[in-house]
Amino acid sequence: MMRSMGGFALGIALLLMIALVGQALTATVNEFNSSISAYLLGESYWSKARSSATQLLYRYAVERDAALLDEADQMLDVQLGDRDARFALDHEPPDLDAARAGFERGMNPSGNIDRLVWVYRWLRDLPALRDAMDSWRATDPMLSRVVALKDELRTAVQSSDEETISRLIDELLQTDARMGVLQKEFLDDFVKATDWVHRALVVFSAIGFSMLTLVSALLLRLIVRRVRASEGSFRAAFEQAAIGMIRVGDGGRLLAANDRICARLGYSEAELQRMGFDRIDGSDGDSGLRALREKLFASSEGSISEERDFIARNGRPLRIKLTASMVRNHEPGSSRMLALLEDVSEAHRLSEELHHHVTHDALSGLANRRELQRSLAQLLARSRRDDSRHALLLLDIDRFKLVNDSAGPAAGDEYLRRVASRLSDEIGAKAVLARVGSDEFAVALESVTIADALALAERMEAIVSGTTFRWGAFNSALTACIGIVEISPDAPDTNWVLRAADIACYLAKEEGPGRIRVYVESDEAVSRRRSEVEWVSEVRLALDEDRVFLFAQPIHDFRDGSRLRYEVLARLFDRSGRMHTPGAFIPAIERYGRIDLLDREIVRKTLAMLAEHPQHVARLESCHINISAQSLATPSFRDYVVCAIKGSNMPGAKFCFELTETAAISNLAEARAFIDAVHALGCKVALDDFGSGMSSFGYLKTLAVDILKVDGVFARGAADDSFDRTVLQAIGRMGHALGKYTIAESVESDAAMQAIQALGIDAAQGYAIGKPQPLEALITADAGVHGDAAVH
Ligand code: C2E
Ligand code: CA
Ligand code: CA
Repeated sequence: MMRSMGGFALGIALLLMIALVGQALTATVNEFNSSISAYLLGESYWSKARSSATQLLYRYAVERDAALLDEADQMLDVQLGDRDARFALDHEPPDLDAARAGFERGMNPSGNIDRLVWVYRWLRDLPALRDAMDSWRATDPMLSRVVALKDELRTAVQSSDEETISRLIDELLQTDARMGVLQKEFLDDFVKATDWVHRALVVFSAIGFSMLTLVSALLLRLIVRRVRASEGSFRAAFEQAAIGMIRVGDGGRLLAANDRICARLGYSEAELQRMGFDRIDGSDGDSGLRALREKLFASSEGSISEERDFIARNGRPLRIKLTASMVRNHEPGSSRMLALLEDVSEAHRLSEELHHHVTHDALSGLANRRELQRSLAQLLARSRRDDSRHALLLLDIDRFKLVNDSAGPAAGDEYLRRVASRLSDEIGAKAVLARVGSDEFAVALESVTIADALALAERMEAIVSGTTFRWGAFNSALTACIGIVEISPDAPDTNWVLRAADIACYLAKEEGPGRIRVYVESDEAVSRRRSEVEWVSEVRLALDEDRVFLFAQPIHDFRDGSRLRYEVLARLFDRSGRMHTPGAFIPAIERYGRIDLLDREIVRKTLAMLAEHPQHVARLESCHINISAQSLATPSFRDYVVCAIKGSNMPGAKFCFELTETAAISNLAEARAFIDAVHALGCKVALDDFGSGMSSFGYLKTLAVDILKVDGVFARGAADDSFDRTVLQAIGRMGHALGKYTIAESVESDAAMQAIQALGIDAAQGYAIGKPQPLEALITADAGVHGDAAVH
């Protein structure tokens, strides 16, 4: 390719050069012709002057008129001028001015003078011209003799020496005749030279022209070869391309299709040409190559791309990307289209699958929360546009945990799938049904009244209560609560809609299983619930803005009061600086499943603060940290706690984790894993609020806890209430029997404290011992008592 490129360039250069030489040659020929004419003209003046001079001298000899002598002088000067010019040019270096002056005297027209000079200077030695010039030179002595004769004639005439006159006339005529002969020779030689030069020029031109033809032919051959080669390589590329290619002629006719696309579609090229592409084009709408071609024509781009569906011979649907570009022909008005065809079926399938993953719930195959939110946004926008009303239904299965806990998660999943498929049969394509939580489903209903929505909610509840799940010999059905919210132009945003449905569902649950409730903004219950929802965002904000603080409450050991033990309690300060206790915000974040955020923050802050006070830590018996049952069930939380304690370089034995029972421990296996993990670090585990919840005793059996914290309700009657006393005593004994350390909570008076001690409980916590205070203050006070060196 490079070589042929080089040959091509050389060919072009040669052609140009030849053309230039040709032009120069033509100019030279023209110039030469003009110069020849100049010499011939000059010669004619010279010869005229010669014969005139002879005649005038002759007449003078006869008529004896002195004026004739002057005229003869003038004629002689013409010949002398030419001669002097030649002398000047023969001089080394040539005297050009003298030469020009000489030729001027020779009567030559001024336009010819330079040519005369040029020819003489450069061409006088050409073989043909040399003879002519020699003839001219040979006239020099004769010319001089004529000049001398003129003077002699004057003298003879003046002295009337007739004899001399007649001799001089004879000599004059003879000399003139000899000059005439030489002049003729000059003329002959000159014509010969001209012929020679002309012939040479013809030969040159012939050679030049032949070369031109030759180079042109070579060049043409080179071009043809290259065009063929590129056509060949295009054809080869077309045939063997790894990508499908077709060529399309006028009117969308298929001209050619390469092997690749034929194989893909399962038709031969001839078949495709016969049936046309449109027959296998599975796209709906504007299809066919003709349409594509027209689109390409209409677009200002050089090429266009689009995806289309095709059906292969074996019936397989194919997604093909066509990239068409125009190949213009030389004939006006006709252009071909070349299209690349890429099978993007696989990529398309993957992207659809991905889209499905992103927008659907893997377990049920229903839409997911994100997809629901998208359709809610659409409904909301529509409602604002045309004041239409829509609805969102949120269905939460009651006591679903029962299925999971008793029959295992696999049975739970199976149950959810069955419910999902039945709900989806009921709802069909009319609305978007989504699974938005583990046992929560939502339906976005377009253009419905609340009555319609209620009717559907009842049918959905019936479906849930009609779907049984089997576990061993056990065959049971669950119920579901449903919250409904209208989507009207007043709804602030989709989050509000979702929260409202959530609140309605929560209120339905409060009423009992299998209830349905419509959200009404003015409900008192609604505003209570709404404030809970607001708490969730407030906690997140407080965590971000570092407005969650550590408080701590001391725990008094009855046997050794000097042992330093306390419980860390969370406090939130709002932006106005008001303090809030966990009772206000923990239920909300627990319900929204985000309490692990708070627990992490408390663990992180506690470790950070203690790490700054090593002397305090050295004296510390145990720092209790509350962990919600929800956090407990989160493996990532366990990993976090383990890493944090290991990273703190403080002994694990300094910490005790209290498992609060504010939420049910849903996953016992995870809870055990957590306990095992912190035990491995030397930490202790306490069961909080022992005696109050139904499952307290169950947990005692299944969870390897070290400490029991007796619920505060029993401490109140420790001094005088026989029931409370009996419970406290029973727990104290049981604790000792099982080797557990027991702590009574909410001990508010000294009397209660003494009673509790007497009933066999190991330790007490409550206002009687100390109120919750900032952990930092507690550490500082402790350092003060012991006179620590450096207190931060
Ligand atoms: P809890 O673990 O049972 O903590 C004891 C609660 O009783 C504390 O309320 C404390 O202020 C209060 N209390 C202490 N002594 C007395 C008393 O003599 N009389 C009365 N009436 N109450 C007393 P607080 O701080 O409001 O905590 C409430 C609950 O919030 C805690 O109950 C605990 O379950 C939870 N909690 C607190 N901090 C955290 C935390 O960091 N993480 C988690 N998951 N839960 C926390
Ligand atoms: Ca606690
Ligand atoms: Ca407690």
